[in-house]
Amino acid sequence: MTTNYDADVAIIGYGPTGLVGAMTLASKGASVVAFERDKDIYARARAVTVNDWTMRIFQDLGIDDRIEKVIEPQRALRWVTYDGQEVMRVVHPPSELGTRNTKPRFYNIYQPTMEAELRACAAELDGLEVRYGAEVVGVEELADGVRVTSRDTATGEESSVVVRYVIGADGGSSPTRKMLGIAMRGETIDTQWIVIDCKVKRWWPDRDFLTFWTDAERPVVDIALSAGNHRWEIPLKPGECEADFESSAEVWPLLAALGVTEDDVEIHQHAFYRHHALGAETWRRGRVFLAGDACHLMPPWAGAGMQTGMRDAHNLGWKLARVLRGELDDAWLDTYEAERRPNADFYTDLAIGLGRVIKQEATPEELAAMNAVPENTVTPFEPPLIAPPVLVAGWLNGTQGDASVIGRMLPQPIAGDAVGRMARLDDLLGDDFVLLGADVDPASVLTDEERAAWDALGARYVTIRPQSAYTQGPDELVDLEGVLLAWLGRYGVQVAAVRPDRFVAAADKSGLATPTL
Ligand SMILES: Cc1cc2nc3c(=O)[nH]c(=O)nc-3n(C[C@H](O)[C@H](O)[C@H](O)COP(=O)(O)OP(=O)(O)OC[C@H]3O[C@@H](n4cnc5c(N)ncnc54)[C@H](O)[C@@H]3O)c2cc1C
Repeated sequence: MTTNYDADVAIIGYGPTGLVGAMTLASKGASVVAFERDKDIYARARAVTVNDWTMRIFQDLGIDDRIEKVIEPQRALRWVTYDGQEVMRVVHPPSELGTRNTKPRFYNIYQPTMEAELRACAAELDGLEVRYGAEVVGVEELADGVRVTSRDTATGEESSVVVRYVIGADGGSSPTRKMLGIAMRGETIDTQWIVIDCKVKRWWPDRDFLTFWTDAERPVVDIALSAGNHRWEIPLKPGECEADFESSAEVWPLLAALGVTEDDVEIHQHAFYRHHALGAETWRRGRVFLAGDACHLMPPWAGAGMQTGMRDAHNLGWKLARVLRGELDDAWLDTYEAERRPNADFYTDLAIGLGRVIKQEATPEELAAMNAVPENTVTPFEPPLIAPPVLVAGWLNGTQGDASVIGRMLPQPIAGDAVGRMARLDDLLGDDFVLLGADVDPASVLTDEERAAWDALGARYVTIRPQSAYTQGPDELVDLEGVLLAWLGRYGVQVAAVRPDRFVAAADKSGLATPTL
């Protein structure tokens, strides 16, 4: 019997994770139906920051220019005590992922505004249907698909669709996860935090630092959000509870203690949260995947919860789109959890470590490790908070380490092509697997067998020439900023095999065979 599918993929939950999943799939040719229980965007600003890795994902979706208009660069992080002593500062070097020396590494956002812009961008995509006010109440795996049942939140009427795959991106309390019977493991930290969002009434000195007021009793996060908003996150002390802070008048003393006055801001809204360090026991059951908060919850200190979800959705999305087109084997989908879980764990551990700094629990050794910004900041030895992204496990061939290029994300300079156009590297590389040769034809370095395996993946073969050379064929690019050749040279690499998400999967130094699944 041939199944009639209503769409290739159903996405449950249209928060940041669901949005990026839907856009990745639809922009790469899959048909998508997304279900969102709420009619409106969640009004509370939760996430405060995105970085250059996330912006590169937005670039892949063709929306980074539009998102950049609703977010703002972040200057630096600093940890200060109430008596004015600076414990630690991390100055952000310019990003090497989005045009060297011109793009910031970190941006401040206002989550509802950014989500609204993401939704506006998504609405322009063909092949993406979004059902608002539709709460998913059933997920049933069939022999060759999944039936998803939703209930109209206004009328109570139920309807079903049959799809090939499902992504459960329905947040921390994920009904999808519960329907699949998947447990969350880890801990919820008992302390309750009040999160205060304000409208700015005047600029004050150094407002654009992300300031952590470190204190054993009352540590505070103080951060500029985009579009004239500002955030303070403050823990409640033992004996305090939500009921003590119902009105803005009751919240004001918390801000006043930090020297903030009604001349500076107006309180817009406040909410209470507890922090979690939780992970789902599995991220896949059959044709149903979990992504974002549905499969991992972390403390906010690394500013990475939402971004980790977006990266999950992008990782799964580009692979799923290729599996649906018949270009990749279904076994590729198992690399999703293999690659993304260690990254979620890394950011959870980093967030816990940064939380120890703000609560004055970190040892001098821990502080030194996080603070050690070397003089030449574009090195493999950057401290974890600002280090460029690395894929530590999954579809990779070769060992990793400080001297290895394997798993690293390719920098993105401006390049020239063989017909004289200048553009960002990703825009010239397109959506394919690419073998990049450093002033050498990459195909000439491959064995016949290796070449056949890369051909089967539809790989391109591109030679990178220095600024001083002529291009000699159509598949050649010029390294106009001298970044790429220097970067490959630093790792002693002549040919690097780059995945569509710009991570290096293999190199001549360690072997150019396609990684095994
Ligand atoms: C105080 C605070 C600060 C934070 N700061 C940062 C930060 O700086 N950087 C960062 O990256 N992250 C940060 N985060 C985390 C970030 O906000 C979340 O990780 C992110 O919003 C998760 O996105 P998501 O799409 O996975 O889930 P959600 O945003 O929770 O979206 C899930 C969606 O699913 C919908 N849904 C649920 N059930 C159903 C159903 N049955 N049917 C249909 N739809 C359903 C919900 O209505 C919701 O819209 C912070 C969080 C908090 C609380």
